[in-house]
Amino acid sequence: MREFQRQFASEEACQDYLATCRWPEGFRCRRCGHTRAYRLVKQRRWQCAACRDQVSLTAGTILHNTKTPLTAWFWAAYLTVTDKRGISALLLQRQLGLRRYETAWMLLHKLRRAMVNAVREPLQGDVEIDDTWVGGPQPGLRGSRQLKGRKAAIVLAAVEKRGEASNRIRMAVVPDFKQTTMLGFVTQHVAPGSTIYTDGLKSFEGLQAAGVRHVPRTQPLRGALRKGVPSVVPLADRAIGNLQQWLIGTYHGVSKAQLQIYLDEFVFRHNRRRQPMAAFQTLLGLGTGRAPTSYRRIRGARDVTG
Ligand SMILES: [Zn+2]
Repeated sequence: MREFQRQFASEEACQDYLATCRWPEGFRCRRCGHTRAYRLVKQRRWQCAACRDQVSLTAGTILHNTKTPLTAWFWAAYLTVTDKRGISALLLQRQLGLRRYETAWMLLHKLRRAMVNAVREPLQGDVEIDDTWVGGPQPGLRGSRQLKGRKAAIVLAAVEKRGEASNRIRMAVVPDFKQTTMLGFVTQHVAPGSTIYTDGLKSFEGLQAAGVRHVPRTQPLRGALRKGVPSVVPLADRAIGNLQQWLIGTYHGVSKAQLQIYLDEFVFRHNRRRQPMAAFQTLLGLGTGRAPTSYRRIRGARDVTG
């Protein structure tokens, strides 16, 4: 964290990082092919040393035309990616020393939206799916009583297995337990040819229509689970437990309408927990389709003349 702060302490350092993402092999003019450029720091552009063609460093990224310092953006994105609990606008405002609360709020809002829009490849291989209630008076309790007049929402969770551990996950708010709803979720989030493990809930019948193999197994009773009898969907259970903890600890009283956005945030962070710099780049809209650029590489930006 301290290294990150030191590395991106100035507008120039942030701009150099953007340049490194844009030209991983070093600057090359799109017009004349020349390989030297001048920094135009104020305009956030680089200008070709030969033909004077200018390229905006922020074009095509979330940072384009922003008046907020890049240092604030970088720090906000870093915190968003690394702080598991998620960060509040108020805390961010203090951390960044921003004068206006609205600026911090806007930063977080845009970064959240980037998390929602992040590219998603469907899960594949062995996938566990389970359901849970969120936001009701008794979160985690099963039963249709929860729905009546309550603000509770149904959430489906899918977890991709890698060995005995969980790999990527997906979560979605769904309106009901109808079989067509379950099928829609699987079609959207799981690749054909995968194997899906669920409990014996009737709603999960008919998933084969999504081109997957379905293995339903009867879940032990709650009392037995508490006594240590293993769940038939242990990874999905754990993901759901983590989600519930996170929601309780971070966002008090998430509205039903907002819930999907929080799920997307949770999923984004979970799926990229081992590649924080890749997540950082995704959030800022940098380096699409490229391997993540380590911030150490900034020092390699020796193609700058001015
Ligand atoms: Zn040129």
